[in-house]
Amino acid sequence: MISISKPAIGEDEKKEVLNVLESGNIAAGEKVREFEEKFAEYIGSTYAVATSSGTTALHTMIHALDFQPGDEIITTPFSFIATANAIRYCGLNPIFVDIEEDTFNIDTNKIEEMIKSNKKIRAILIVHLFGQACNMKELKEICDKYKLFLLEDCAQAHGSEYDGIKVGNFGHLAAFSFYATKNMTTAEGGMITGNDEGLIKKCRCFINHGMVEKYKYETLGYNYRMTNIQAAIGICQLKKLDDFNDKRIKNAMLYNSFFEKCENIIVPLIKERCKHVFHQYVIKVPEIKRDGLIEHLKKHQVQCGVFYPQPLYKYITEDIFELDVVERVSRSVVALPVHPLLNECDIEYVAKMVINYMEKEI
Ligand SMILES: *Cc1c(COP(=O)(O)O)cnc(C)c1O
Repeated sequence: MISISKPAIGEDEKKEVLNVLESGNIAAGEKVREFEEKFAEYIGSTYAVATSSGTTALHTMIHALDFQPGDEIITTPFSFIATANAIRYCGLNPIFVDIEEDTFNIDTNKIEEMIKSNKKIRAILIVHLFGQACNMKELKEICDKYKLFLLEDCAQAHGSEYDGIKVGNFGHLAAFSFYATKNMTTAEGGMITGNDEGLIKKCRCFINHGMVEKYKYETLGYNYRMTNIQAAIGICQLKKLDDFNDKRIKNAMLYNSFFEKCENIIVPLIKERCKHVFHQYVIKVPEIKRDGLIEHLKKHQVQCGVFYPQPLYKYITEDIFELDVVERVSRSVVALPVHPLLNECDIEYVAKMVINYMEKEI
């Protein structure tokens, strides 16, 4: 079976984990600090705070901005549920704005309309979906114009760039995930990046029971800490991240070349100013063929994914509202395996299986 994702764990990760285990300092400590420093350096941010997951990084970062009851945050309906849930953890309402048909990212043209009609909007939480950055120039302009906070969900975009700048540098704060399927992993884990010392201090306090110094508690906080065991894996993975991403990009380009002549397969659009790191390689096919294609691939030992089968609002509100593009897109997307452990033969095999099915009359 060719799987949709697989963590690339090497001998160095095993050795470093063993070192931590034998050291006795297995919870949060030196290794976590080292991982934070190296991650901040890689991204280009001043600070980084490691957390227990991407979800807890999101919750922490939103909490740090001190939103008031009734404030609202614009976000995309096309993401993993954690994006919207993190807003809800803070007692706030996510306001969903439709996506772009070609990049799957939030549609910046539609954001301004929403802001004009809703005076409670205080922030925009963007998701650099599948590894490609949102329209950062437009987003920056909107946030400046309307004095909104900008927050980034970078859970799928480690190393992704816009105008040569890595994502995780554009917002007031940004959240990453190191879940097992991501571009780099610590099994479970997350990171917040930012340049504002005050906001970062709040984050650090919140993930450690609101503690500012030993047994001095300033606010209500949680235990959202990362462990040295996870950090040891993360330090090794970070060294290999660029190579992992290069392999993902290479695999994606190979798929593109195979699908060039297929009229009923729309390959992912890569925007000019972006370095896409292909957390997922997502094609669009005609709706009537989508589920059949997935079945066909499964029968031939290829696991693919549907990211995402439904817009997020379907899970959290009974209100009957629908956004045209995201509804349509969610019925035609298929994610093909693109992870770095796949070689050219694997990609060729998957591409041929896809083409086989897509060329059949049904
Ligand atoms: C994976 C993911 C998260 C959540 O990260 P966890 O580490 O699984 O908690 C949040 N947002 C997006 C877009 C993700 O892909």
